[in-house]
Amino acid sequence: MNSRYIFTTTSWKKTALGTEIPLSASRPLEEMRAERPILLMGGIHGDEPEGVALAEGTLEWLKSACESGHGEQLAPWVVIPCLNIDGFRKNQRVNGRGVDLNRNYPASNWSPTADKERYFPGPSPGSEPEIQGVVELLQTLRPRLVIHCHSWKPMVVYAGEPGLRDAELLGRASGYKVVDTIGYPTPGSLSQYGWGDLKIPIICIEEQDGLTDLTPIWPRFADGMKSIFLDASLRGAEA
Ligand SMILES: [Zn+2]
Repeated sequence: MNSRYIFTTTSWKKTALGTEIPLSASRPLEEMRAERPILLMGGIHGDEPEGVALAEGTLEWLKSACESGHGEQLAPWVVIPCLNIDGFRKNQRVNGRGVDLNRNYPASNWSPTADKERYFPGPSPGSEPEIQGVVELLQTLRPRLVIHCHSWKPMVVYAGEPGLRDAELLGRASGYKVVDTIGYPTPGSLSQYGWGDLKIPIICIEEQDGLTDLTPIWPRFADGMKSIFLDASLRGAEA
């Protein structure tokens, strides 16, 4: 088994406005092609700081596990703490060009129309560089699981039966309900593209939105996240 370390780049990809997007991983991406890592993302919607806090909390735990010599017990991992940095800086849902990134995936059900401006899917499927970057990761690394962190009403939404067990781990840790749909159509979303088209299981964590104190978020999900990243490693070794 290869030894793992922490690989971090501040310039994985650039946003539509040219802002660099940081990424961390257990190894350089070009060395991970056969490893089928877990991909974790926050900040897809810039006005959902709860999701950024959860991704950052998970990343800090992964790094500390590696630094204390336990990196070998973890599944290979890739973390993008804040995909939509431009939106995050302005506390707005959409990216720098006004596109809802979770409606811009080149899913077979991508739709050019949206009920509301906040769901604007972009001029064409996969038009936004932030999404082009994620699509490249999905296609080249074929992650065993993707978790993306949002905030709205508390729930854990899974797409794809292979992700159910991990969704239940997160549900058990947080006390949030586990569901297989968010309850309204999401054409061009990561669930639609990742599971619907690529058959990569996707988990969408919805933290309660509008929290004034973000510090309880990581502790709320910590047991679930730790089980996922530790168990997945063991399951990978069995394959
Ligand atoms: Zn969101």
